[in-house]
Amino acid sequence: MRRRAFAMACLLALPPSAGGQAPVPSSLLDSQTFLEAQLAPLPPLASAEAQRIRDLLAHMSVKEKVGQMTQLEIGMVTDGSDAELRINPDKLRKAVVEYGVGALLNVKDLALTPDKWHELISAIQAAAAQTRLKIPVIYGIDTIHGANYVAGATLFPQPLGMAATWNPALMLETSRIAAAETRAAGIAWNFSPVLDIGRQPLWPRLYETFGEDPYLATVMGAATVRGYQGTDPSAADRVAATMKHYVGYSFPTSGHDRTPALIPEVTLREYFLPTFAAAVKAGALSVMVNSGEVNGVPGHVNKFLLTDVLRGELGFEGVIDSDWEDIKKLVNIHHITATEKEATRQAVLAGIDMSMVPGDYSFSDLLVQLVAERAVPMSRIDDAVTRILTMKARLGLFADPMRGGGAKSGVRVGTPASRATALAAARQSLILLKNDAPAAAGGQARVLPLARNARVLVTGPTADSLPSLNNGWTLTWQGDRAAAYPKDRDTIRAALERRLGSSSVTYVPGSEYDKPLDVAAAVDAARAADVVVLCLGEKSYAETPGNIDDLVLPEAQLRLAREVAAAGKPVVLVLVEGRPRIINTIADAMSGIVLALNPGLEGGTAIADVLIGDENPSGRLPITYPRAANALLTYDHKAFEEQDTSFGLSAFKPQFEFGSGLSYTTFEYSNLSITLSANGQVDVSVTVRNTGARAGTDVVQLYLSQRTAAITPPVKRLKRFARVPLAEGASQTLRFRLMKPDFSYIGADGKPVIEPSAFSISVGKLHQEMTIREGD
Ligand code: BGC
Repeated sequence: MRRRAFAMACLLALPPSAGGQAPVPSSLLDSQTFLEAQLAPLPPLASAEAQRIRDLLAHMSVKEKVGQMTQLEIGMVTDGSDAELRINPDKLRKAVVEYGVGALLNVKDLALTPDKWHELISAIQAAAAQTRLKIPVIYGIDTIHGANYVAGATLFPQPLGMAATWNPALMLETSRIAAAETRAAGIAWNFSPVLDIGRQPLWPRLYETFGEDPYLATVMGAATVRGYQGTDPSAADRVAATMKHYVGYSFPTSGHDRTPALIPEVTLREYFLPTFAAAVKAGALSVMVNSGEVNGVPGHVNKFLLTDVLRGELGFEGVIDSDWEDIKKLVNIHHITATEKEATRQAVLAGIDMSMVPGDYSFSDLLVQLVAERAVPMSRIDDAVTRILTMKARLGLFADPMRGGGAKSGVRVGTPASRATALAAARQSLILLKNDAPAAAGGQARVLPLARNARVLVTGPTADSLPSLNNGWTLTWQGDRAAAYPKDRDTIRAALERRLGSSSVTYVPGSEYDKPLDVAAAVDAARAADVVVLCLGEKSYAETPGNIDDLVLPEAQLRLAREVAAAGKPVVLVLVEGRPRIINTIADAMSGIVLALNPGLEGGTAIADVLIGDENPSGRLPITYPRAANALLTYDHKAFEEQDTSFGLSAFKPQFEFGSGLSYTTFEYSNLSITLSANGQVDVSVTVRNTGARAGTDVVQLYLSQRTAAITPPVKRLKRFARVPLAEGASQTLRFRLMKPDFSYIGADGKPVIEPSAFSISVGKLHQEMTIREGD
C-alpha cells in the first residue's frame, strides 16, 4: 500500500509553485517509478498450453527434440536473393520435415515486404504442419531500431540515440511499434534489446547499446522488453524479446568485436549484469549468449554464468539461444576443444538450449549421437525443449503460426502515426553540446538556432547520407545499400533545403569519410556563406566490419573542418556517428556542436528542426565523450583516476560529460532537500526552473557518491532521472525516493553490501550530505 501511494506521488509530482507556471504534463514520471512498473512478470502459461507441451514432449523422438533445438538461417530453405528470394521445396522438406528444425532466422540480404515475408513464412509453417507432431517453426530476426528488415517499416534512432532521449516512455512506445511492424511480417521473435553496457567506445556495436551507465540502460532495456512483449506476447502485435549478448560482450580489451574481455566478477555484477537482471524480471522470453570470452572462458561454455547465475540467481526461465555459428567457433576461434562434437556437448551442458548453427545440420547430427552415447542426459534435452515449446506457446504459435502476419492482419507498417513517433524520437535524441556566440558574427547571438534568412553552406561526408543517419541493421546488415533506402526521406542537406529554401543552401561534399574530396571548393563556398553546417562522422557499419584501431575522426574530415573554419565564418559541427570519434583538434574552432548519433530515417528532418530552432534540443549524453583516444574513462570512474592531487593534475577532462546537453533555454536547480526515514528510505526533492526565454525540456539527474568503501568507490553513480518539460519561466518540484539497495554496491564476495559511510546526493551543482552509520 505504501509503495503504491508513493508511486502516485511521483506520477503527479508537486503542484507548480506560485507564479502562474504551466500545468504538469502527464508524462512527468521519475525513472524508478517507470522502471518498477515494467518489472511485473508475464502471467503463468495457461494450463491447457502447459499440458500440450508435456504431451508433446512425451511423444517426441530424440531427433524431433534435437530438431527443436536447432536454428538455421533462411538460405537453408530458400534460393536466390533480394526480390528473387524463393522457397526451395527440397531444402525446406529436409530442414523442417526430415530434421524437424524448430527455428529459422535472418534476412537473406535485403529487407522484404510484409507480403513477401508472409509468403515465405507461410510456406515454412505449412511444412511444419506436415510433420508428425505439427509443431510450428519460430522465425527470428534482428529488429534493432524498428523493423529494419521489413520494407517500408518505421525506423527510429539506434538504441544509443534512444538512450540520449532519457525518455523510457518513448522507448516503450517505439518498441511497441517495432514489435507490431515485425509481427506484421509473420515474425514472432526479435533478437533485441542489446543490454550490453557501452563502456568501450571503440567497440563497433556501441550504437546498439543504451550507453555506459547501468541504471540508464536498465530503465531503457526494461522499457524495450515490455514494449516488444506487452503483457501478452501472443497478441498479434507483439514479439518475444531477446536479451543480448549475455554477458560481458561489450567490453573487449582491444575494442574489436568478439575479442576477449577481462572483467572481474565484482565488476561484472556491478556494471554488466543489472540490465539482464531487470529484463528477466520484465519477463524477457529469450537470451542470446556472448560470442566472445570473459576471463578466458567463452560465453557459450560458461556454465557458471549461464546456469548458476542466469538460471539460478536471476531466475531466468526462457530460452538460451547461441549466437551465430558459436558452437563451431568454440573449435575454430576459441580453440577450447578440437572437435565440434565436444564443443556441442560442453555448450549444451553449460546451458545452451538452442544453437544458431546456422548453415548445416552438424548440431542436430552430433547432439543426437551425444544423447545416444549418454554424454548429454535426456533431462537436459527435455529441459531445453520444454523452454522452446513454452516460448512458442507464449507467442500463440500453436493456435495460429502466422498470427499477426500478412495484409489480412490489418497492421500496416510505416503509418504516418508511427513515422510521427519516429520523428519525435529523432528530435529528442539530438544533443546540443556547444552553442557559442561567435566573434565572426559580431559576438552577439549564439550560432544556433540559425537565422531563417541565413545563407548556409552544407558540407561533409554525412551531410547527404541516409546510411550514415541510420547506420547498420538498416534494410541490410551493414545498412550500406544507399539505393535501397526510401526516396522520400530527407538527408540533412535535403531537409535544410526544404526548410530554408534551396537558394539559401549550398552543398559541397568537401570530403569522403577517409579521403579528401573538393576541400578547396568547400572553403570557397564557406566564404560566400553566413554559416557553415559541417556534417562529419561515420559511414554505416555493423559488428566486425566496423572495427577501428583509432577513435580519432579520420584526418580527411579533420582537415575539411580546419580549412572550412579558417574561412572565418561560424561553423556548426553536426556529428553523425555510432561512437564518439575524437574531435579535440577541431572542437575549439567550432561555434556549435550537435551530436546526432544515428537518428534513423526521420533524422535529417529532426536535425534541420533543431538547427533552425523549430525543436528545442533536449538530448543528454548517454556516454562520456572522450577528449583523447587514450583517455577513455567513464563518468563513474574512481577518484584516483580523476586527480593526482600531489601534482595538481586532472586526468578526467572529457570533451563532453555523461549526462550533459544544452538547450535553447536555461534551467536552474534550487531547494535540494533530503528527508531520511527510519527504514532507510531517503526522500529527495528538488526544484527545476526554466530561466530562459522559451519552453524547453530538462533532464533532471540525481547522482549518489559514496565517500568511503572497502572496494574503492566510483566518484558518483546515476540513481534517478526525469525528463521535465517546462514552459518559459515555469518551475517544477520533483520528488525522488532512494531505497536501501540504492546505497549498496557489490562487495568482494560478489554480493550487495551497504557499508557505513558518508554519502553525497547531488542534482546539478547542488548537493546534500548524509551518513549511514553502523546498524542503520
Ligand atoms: C549477432 C547477433 C545477431 C545474430 C543474428 C550475430 O552475428 O552477434 O546480435 O542477433 O548475428 O543476426
